[in-house]
Amino acid sequence: MITRRLLRYLIPHRKALIGAFFFLFIATAAEMTGPLLIKVFIDDYLVPERFPSTPLIFLGASYLGLHLIAVVLQYLQQYSFYRIALAVIQQLRMDVFGKVQYLGLAFFDRVADGSLVSRITNDTEAIKELFVNVMSTFIKNSVLIIGVVIAMFLLDTKLAMISFILLPLLFGLMQAYRFLSFKVYRVVRETLSEMNARLSESIQGMGVVQAWRQEKRFADEFDEVNEQHVQANVKNMKLNSLLLRPAVDILSIATLIVILTYFGIGVGDSAVQIGVLYAMINLLGRLFEPVNQIMMQLSFLQQAIVSAGRVFELLDEKELAPSKEGEGNPEIQEGRITFEHVTFSYDGKTNVLKDISFVVEPGQTVALVGHTGSGKSTINNLLMRFYSLQQGRITIDGNPLETFVDQELRKQVGLVPQDPFLFVGTIRDNIRQGNDALTDEVVQGAAELVQADSFIEKLPGGMNEPVVERGATFSSGQRQLLAFARTMAQSPKILILDEATAHVDTETEEKIQEALYRMRQGRTTLAIAHRLSTIQDADLILVLHQGEIVERGTHQELLTRQGLYHKMYLLQQGLKEEVNV
Ligand code: ATP
Ligand code: MG
Repeated sequence: MITRRLLRYLIPHRKALIGAFFFLFIATAAEMTGPLLIKVFIDDYLVPERFPSTPLIFLGASYLGLHLIAVVLQYLQQYSFYRIALAVIQQLRMDVFGKVQYLGLAFFDRVADGSLVSRITNDTEAIKELFVNVMSTFIKNSVLIIGVVIAMFLLDTKLAMISFILLPLLFGLMQAYRFLSFKVYRVVRETLSEMNARLSESIQGMGVVQAWRQEKRFADEFDEVNEQHVQANVKNMKLNSLLLRPAVDILSIATLIVILTYFGIGVGDSAVQIGVLYAMINLLGRLFEPVNQIMMQLSFLQQAIVSAGRVFELLDEKELAPSKEGEGNPEIQEGRITFEHVTFSYDGKTNVLKDISFVVEPGQTVALVGHTGSGKSTINNLLMRFYSLQQGRITIDGNPLETFVDQELRKQVGLVPQDPFLFVGTIRDNIRQGNDALTDEVVQGAAELVQADSFIEKLPGGMNEPVVERGATFSSGQRQLLAFARTMAQSPKILILDEATAHVDTETEEKIQEALYRMRQGRTTLAIAHRLSTIQDADLILVLHQGEIVERGTHQELLTRQGLYHKMYLLQQGLKEEVNV
């Protein structure tokens, strides 16, 4: 199954492959003709009475010529196989990377990123060997084996029958090895991938690791996986050194004994038999050499198959990002959002949203407030279609969410996530997000709108200031402002804001508030607020509690109601007053 699927990757390279095999055959033939010429030389010319120089020079020249041809073809053959292997791996990596981009966020909730990286890099690398060496070794040596078996039959039919016992035995041995080594290799690859996962986790969380003095614990845990990896490799080595060469050697000695016994019984029959015996032993040696060659490659074959299995598992992953399902290709015009009886669960067990219904009229701002874990960000996740809707209906301008093409949805719905993620590049790249249609003026305008321009100007590189991975060199307030600018540069019709819980200084907070106010103008906005002060002017406030909307109304209405909102408000006011005192 896996092998066949792997071989399918060769189809686009069939011409190059045929060429490579052609080189391989000729090179092998040339290699084998050489000794033949020597034989002719020894038998026919190495006798003192005949010593003509012309044929000798001819023989020597052809031997040298053949050898040169063999060398060149060897090179061409290896080069072609390598090129094909590289192209196949390149394609495989593109396929995997492409696939990963379209996987649903639910998939990334369950798989560690380090182990994913391992599949894209290490596992594909292990497959390379299959196309570089394994395949050619198998084919070349199979041809040699067939040749030797034919020669055996020509020599002595009865003796040649040995090969009928021998070859199935060898085949059985190969199967046994493959069966036994599969599990071991699986552990080898899995522990390697686990090590990658741990490494990437600890690097990403290095700040936390050091702050909590977890260096030793992380190192110990890593050691443990590393040890498992070593043990699996040791096991694998034992298997290799037991089953591959030695098993074949024992088999070859056993065969030799059988042949000698056979001849021993009929000793003295005739002198011809001694010649046959000699030839037979010689042929046996020639039979076992390619067998050994094949056996040695078995372990690479096995590695490649296990790795390919892991790569294909990823390629077959069903947890796709929800995408367009229905007919039609609606555009977002006004930006009217409705949620109708939406119930949602991440794990299929506990509902984190229960029967959520609300409407955001075009141009309105609706705010979501509630304690941590009450389901606010989940509402955003559904609206952005990061997760598939399970129950109920979400519409924009009356069109169900499923009918929108992802591109349209995500172009018109601008999200400012709770923890903004910046990419490697410059500030300008981060605001522009690869959209070349955005001119420098638009980028600058967006930065000004959200008042990010003042801090950008102070950077040595200005708009061209480099941004490192995750924007680690910027403060969380600055990251937030850049995320605003990024969203506004696309001028979306609908705005989804997930306010950061991180505390920023009062000046930045005022800036962010002012920015938010400007951004909301003329746009349908769904805003998650932690500081209730930011959303007092919202048209509608929804109070979430454990996945349910427990209160709804304007700021004033909710205050007079004296419910949960009132309590939260007082609490925040109280905190402020305490600080003020
Ligand atoms: P906060 O104010 O802290 O941002 P929130 O209201 O945004 O909280 P959500 O992020 O919507 O809360 O989470 C709601 C519930 O869903 C929580 O109980 C959380 O544990 C759970 N949850 C959130 N994200 C996931 C996820 N990716 N997989 C599984 N459960 C999740
Ligand atoms: Mg949240």
